[in-house]
This record gives sequence, structure tokens and C-alpha cells, in this order.
Amino acid sequence: MMQACYDCVVVGGGPSGATAATDLAAAGHSVLLLDRGGRIKPCGGAIPPRLIQDFAIPDELIVGRAVSARMIAPSDTEVDMPVGKGFVGMVDRETFDEWLRARAARAGAERCTGTFDRIERDGNGGAILVYTEARGGPERRVRAACVIGADGARSRVARATLKGAEAMPCVFAYHEVIRSPAIDDSGFDRGRCDVFYQAALSPDFYAWVFPHGDTASVGVGSANKGFALRDAVTRLRAREGLAGCETIRREGAPIPLRPLRKWDNGRDVLVTGDAAGVVAPASGEGIYYAMVAGREAAAAVGAFLRSGNPKALGQARRRFMRAHGSVFWILGIMQYFWYRNDRRRERFVTMCADRDVQKLIWPAYMNKRLVYARPLAYLRIFAKDMRHLLQTAG
Ligand SMILES: Cc1cc2nc3c(=O)[nH]c(=O)nc-3n(C[C@H](O)[C@H](O)[C@H](O)COP(=O)(O)OP(=O)(O)OC[C@H]3O[C@@H](n4cnc5c(N)ncnc54)[C@H](O)[C@@H]3O)c2cc1C
Repeated sequence: MMQACYDCVVVGGGPSGATAATDLAAAGHSVLLLDRGGRIKPCGGAIPPRLIQDFAIPDELIVGRAVSARMIAPSDTEVDMPVGKGFVGMVDRETFDEWLRARAARAGAERCTGTFDRIERDGNGGAILVYTEARGGPERRVRAACVIGADGARSRVARATLKGAEAMPCVFAYHEVIRSPAIDDSGFDRGRCDVFYQAALSPDFYAWVFPHGDTASVGVGSANKGFALRDAVTRLRAREGLAGCETIRREGAPIPLRPLRKWDNGRDVLVTGDAAGVVAPASGEGIYYAMVAGREAAAAVGAFLRSGNPKALGQARRRFMRAHGSVFWILGIMQYFWYRNDRRRERFVTMCADRDVQKLIWPAYMNKRLVYARPLAYLRIFAKDMRHLLQTAG
């Protein structure tokens, strides 16, 4: 039987794959978007305004608007960080991801539900993707000039084609989606994200309560395999008065901690999003970066399809790291230093009370841009940071 043949098969229809498929199809390429379906991505669903703007996300997908964050120190000291202008958007991944996939289809991508298994070669050029439509069902094959692996953390495409992908370090995150308490219930604020920096809740990352309108995500992350994430969420719900709320879902997933050194196989496969490891350290923010990387992946594959030169695939990582590498580096150092023990976490939360620090953090998160207009404020932050570091060393 003749195999269907595409310019590109995108494996994974999360934010990264759906974005790549949309851009490639809109540019006139034939695209198959393959997603295994059947599972809502476990996620806190917080997205910055820059994402909403750059990727034209309609209002109806924003189910909650957070206008402040509360940081909670090991001593239970609370520091509120109002956003100022604007809000952090909260999305439900069930509807958000499906909308992104539907947009890819409107742009011309063909959608297919199936689980990627492997890539085969027959010497006739291009890759043959083998997938199954249902567990235990018959294998299907499609041919593609190029493959984008956007199949998330622990990507099967990356592990099958890229050296070192199987060793990608991860934080494991677990959350419970609960029904939000009634609006007039004191204590629960639908406009505030709470972030807990306490070893009892997470020895090396953080725990959170993120409001999503009628539901909320209560979760925790840790790279420490022995740490009982479920117990931590149970304790967190109890202390926040959320133990009695209906539990809608319990789910977990790994969050990659470091971008892969190579995103392409030098031939015809390129990975993006969590599959490439592009989640911001310290914050675990991955949706925006997955979509930016998906856009870069589509541009690189477009250049490859036009030129036939596999070197074009390398531009995706280069361009992404040029734009975001320094922020990842700074956040990586922050995570390494400030999340080490409760003494340091206490200092970190104290620092967040500083108005200068807040004026630096929010614009950087919201707009993905460092504001260079206030060099004196940065000098002050640098001096304070150094003071905190020296006081905390050890
Ligand atoms: C608990 C938790 C909370 C988080 N909270 C936030 C947050 O608040 N804000 C934020 O920005 N980020 C958050 N993140 C990170 C964010 O969810 C990810 O970085 C983001 O989803 C990455 O998008 P992606 O498209 O690369 O991968 P994914 O969203 O993981 O999508 C991968 C897709 O590939 C499909 N797939 C997988 N394997 C196969 C296969 N073999 N064949 C076919 N299809 C396959 C899956 O069905 C899925 O649709 C959180 C992560 C976790 C685990």
C-alpha cells in the first residue's frame, strides 16, 4: 500500500507541537499533527501576557486572572507581590491545548490520533514514522521529509534519535485539581497565586496554589525521588483550608530542568518544547517557552525544506538560546543557590519584599524582557543581592 507522505510530521499536539504545526501549515507545507490524545496535560496553567499577545490567544481561554503572587517563607512569613498593570493568565490545558490543535487544523495541518513508536529508514530518503492508533492496535506508517518531536518530557522521539536525551534531569511535579471554595469563603483569593518555599512541602523546588476560576491547582515539585509529593499536597490542602474541596483530578508529570545540547539529528529530526528541555529553571514555566521553541522549530524546518540543507535545523536552538539562554542561566543559578535549604529560602522571600526586586521580576516575567531603563535600581538590587548572599553563605 502507498504510504501517505508529508513535508513534516509533528509528533505531539501540546503547545509546542501545535504551534509548530500551525506555522508550517500556514506557510504552505503539508503537515501531519500526530497526538496520542486521551490525557489532559498536568499543569498549573499560568501564562504571561506576552504569550497571549504573541500567540493571539482569545479571551475565552483565560479562565482566571491573577493580579498578585504571595510568597510564603519557611517561617510562614508572607510577602505579597502585586502584578501592577496587567495580570497572569490562567488556562485549563484541556481546552487550551485542544484549541491550539484546532487552530493548526484550520491553518491546514491534518490531525491524527495515534501513539508514535519509532522511526524506520528504507534508503528512499526521508523518515518513516511508525505509530499505532490504539494500544495493541495495528501499526501504521507515514513518510515525512522531516520530523518534529514535540512529545513532551522524556520524549520518545528525542530518546530514539538524540544522544544524551535519556539522561535529561527532571523535577517531578504532582498536583490535584480541586473545585475552588465559594467566592465569599475567606482565605481563598481567586486573583492570587500562592507559592510556598518550605522544605516540608518541597525540599528543592516549591509548592503552589494557583486559582483557575471555578477550579484550582494545588501542587508541588521536587527532583528528590524519595520525597512523598502526594503527602505534601495533602498537608498543603489541610493548612490552606482546602482539604474539604472536591478533588477533580490527581496527576503528575516530569518537568525537564535543562535544554538539550542538540535539538536535531543533523539529518531530518528536530525536537522542541519539553522534548528539548526548554522549561525555565526555578519557576518551572514551560508553556511560553514551548510555544516560542515551536515557532523556531517551524522556521528551521521551513528553511530545511526549502534548501535541503540539514544544517538549517540547527537554527532553532541557536535562535532560542540567543533570545532566552541568559534568563535560563540566571534562573538556574537562582534555583541552585536559593532553593538549597530553609535558611536560604527565608532570605529569598525576604528579598522578594523589596520594591526594586518586584519591579525587576514582574516585567521580566510578563513581557519576557529585561527593562534596562533603570540602571540605578539594578545596581541597588545587585548590592542587596550580594549582601544577602554573603549573609546566607553556608
Ligand atoms: C504539574 C505541572 C505544573 C506546571 N505548571 C506550569 C505553569 O503553571 N505554567 C507554565 O508555563 N508551565 C507549567 N508547567 C510546564 C508545562 O506544562 C510544559 O512545559 C508544557 O506543557 C510543555 O509543552 P510541550 O508542548 O512541549 O509538551 P506537552 O504539553 O507535554 O505536550 C506533549 C504532547 O505530546 C503528546 N505525546 C506524548 N508522547 C506521545 C507519543 N509517543 N505519540 C504521540 N503523541 C505523544 C501528548 O499527548 C501531548 O499532547 C507545568 C508542568 C507540570 C508537570
